[in-house]
Amino acid sequence: MTKPPATIFALLDCNNFYASCERAFNPKLRKRPIVVLSNNDGCVIARSAEAKALGIPMGAPAFKFQPLFRKHGVAVFSSNFALYGDMSRRVMDTAARFTPDMEIYSIDEAFLRLDRMHDRPLDVARRIRATIQQWTGIPVSIGIGPTKTLAKVANRVAKKHPEHGGAFSLEDHPDRDRILTDIEIEDVWGIGRQYGKKLREFGIRNALQFSRLDKDWVRKRMTVNGMHTLLELQGVPCLPLEQTVATPKSIVCSRTFAGSLTDKDKLAEIISGYAARTGERLRAQGCVAGHLQVFMLTDRFRLDRPQYSNAAVSSLVAPTSRTPDLIRAARKVLDQIFKPGYEYRKAGVMLFGIEKEQGRRLHLFEPSPEERARSKAVMETMDRINAKWGAMTMRLGAEGTGKRWVMRQAHLSPRYTTNWRELPVVRLD
Ligand SMILES: [Mg+2]
Repeated sequence: MTKPPATIFALLDCNNFYASCERAFNPKLRKRPIVVLSNNDGCVIARSAEAKALGIPMGAPAFKFQPLFRKHGVAVFSSNFALYGDMSRRVMDTAARFTPDMEIYSIDEAFLRLDRMHDRPLDVARRIRATIQQWTGIPVSIGIGPTKTLAKVANRVAKKHPEHGGAFSLEDHPDRDRILTDIEIEDVWGIGRQYGKKLREFGIRNALQFSRLDKDWVRKRMTVNGMHTLLELQGVPCLPLEQTVATPKSIVCSRTFAGSLTDKDKLAEIISGYAARTGERLRAQGCVAGHLQVFMLTDRFRLDRPQYSNAAVSSLVAPTSRTPDLIRAARKVLDQIFKPGYEYRKAGVMLFGIEKEQGRRLHLFEPSPEERARSKAVMETMDRINAKWGAMTMRLGAEGTGKRWVMRQAHLSPRYTTNWRELPVVRLD
């Protein structure tokens, strides 16, 4: 029997992504510490390397750290998900030029297959990294390994040790064992804090110790997923590109219009349609979202026209994937930010605060279980019909009936609900 050709995975991860997006457009921020705040500027959700070095923790309440921000000249930003979504698309588009085998894993991470290429994977990774830096201004780190889990480990090494120049390969690395010893058990992809705690009770503290455990022992205690992690750490690929089940950090639906738009009702129809599409993607992944953002802008290139752009976020009463809830929230935001007298060129809806529907803690304001079951059935029927007969065969009245603003080709062809790889692709143009 011949051995199947070895797989080579790369994990591309943007460094301090939100902070890097802010910096990409403002060279004055180059060496300055940056923090990005959550909705309503509550707490820190992203930090630049300099901000981390100042000891500002993730989730730090902004008001408490104000004096420290001032003292060290920290640049503070409200989160701008429209920008981050667009930058993410640019980074992913750039990476996709190098290989068609790519899985966008989150707003700032993607797995790539680097086998089936002529050049050495590490050389390809260095080229991808340099190109992304040059074209988007976003620094990325790339880890390479024979499995996705080892690519994740390699990525940590690339990030932690700048002497590797932002790319590191664990493919046949002589020091693989030593490197795995340095990875805390909780930090292994797929293990997390809960299993980490249990494993520590058994004296398993790092990735190497875990990788030497007995297969059946792991399967019994951590299901087949745990066993996959074990095998992957040993270099046996178990997770192909498409089949990772991840929760995306955000889902975006947006378009540049063919012409410009001034009419609020038309805009409301379009935005309702976008909200419905994001809802479909959310449901296809078994997720719910806690926040919805609407953004809109005029044509930046028409300097002869008055310019306006705005975005606002509505926090949903309880995390939801129901289209009517999303449309209602989107329309509420539109009411807040719409200004008459401008020619709008682009608008979009972005969902974030995304979590798996199953197994999440229920919210205080959650509808009753019966009510949830009923609306779930309605949504499922709608998704099935649309998957079979084409996107938007069945839609809600709020989305409008006119075909003129319905950009069929831009959105979900039915495969989007079944082909994981195409799901989180951000389309802003
Ligand atoms: Mg990152």
